[in-house]
Amino acid sequence: MSLGRQKETEIRVDDVSMIFGSKGKEVTALTNVSFEVYRSEFVSLLGPSGCGKSTLLRLMADLLEPTSGRITIGEEEPREVRLKRKFGIVFQSPTLFEWRTVKDNIELPMEVLGLKKSEYSAISEQLIEMVGLSKFKHHYPWQLSGGMQQRVAIARALSLDPPILLMDEPFSALDEFTKEKLQLDLLDIQKQTNKTIVFVTHSIPEAVFLSDRVIVMSAHPGRVHSILEMEREEGSYAHIRNSERFHEMTARVRNCFVDEEDSLNERMA
Ligand code: ADP
Ligand code: MG
Repeated sequence: MSLGRQKETEIRVDDVSMIFGSKGKEVTALTNVSFEVYRSEFVSLLGPSGCGKSTLLRLMADLLEPTSGRITIGEEEPREVRLKRKFGIVFQSPTLFEWRTVKDNIELPMEVLGLKKSEYSAISEQLIEMVGLSKFKHHYPWQLSGGMQQRVAIARALSLDPPILLMDEPFSALDEFTKEKLQLDLLDIQKQTNKTIVFVTHSIPEAVFLSDRVIVMSAHPGRVHSILEMEREEGSYAHIRNSERFHEMTARVRNCFVDEEDSLNERMA
């Protein structure tokens, strides 16, 4: 994205900690996490399994409440934002309804909201085209590949035109080729729609390829290790992924984890 001169804060995470479980059996999932996400920015939450990425995304989505600290989206609490349906969510598994076609799955949130079919049919047609499923709109989920199913999930998450898209490892169950195509298409979708995207991943190249900024997290307990600005390049997938700059950026991100391992080894020695 081109941030321009003015960055407008869309999501503010302020000193958030999250402890699960009851006294004596507590699991600290996150400690003192703070950062901002700007409007129309693509931010990845990157870190090893168990560092609290999903917890953080769930807190933003009001699926959990923090033990302490505060999250605000615009000027509002996550709860208000959820009730106003200002974000869409995509999980690792697409969770589609098997008895509904692609089009009917995408239309579900609009149907539930009580919009008229005449209104939402045009919207779903547009979304189907955007995610490249025009030829499959009358197919059922079981007739689609994993990547196509995830495209449906993305279109459904965008159906109420939320300004924010929260994505939890949406491509990690897909094969490498499908993943690459979806990554490219997601960037295209963001370009077309200007959504603010928070994207959870444990893949360094994926985070580097997609993001304006990468929030590197570390585990035990989950916290922000560092926040790194990426340089987005134009060009084909191969051009970008093979470029010197891409390698530099992945190395920079990877070094954060090397630091972390070193300090862990020191503590354990
Ligand atoms: P990630 O998505 O980075 O793999 P999670 O956010 O799922 O990490 O989990 C962070 C930590 O919090 C882990 O130790 C996990 O076991 C713990 N945790 C997550 N959800 C719960 C829960 N509902 N109850 C208890 N512990 C949880
Ligand atoms: Mg997770």
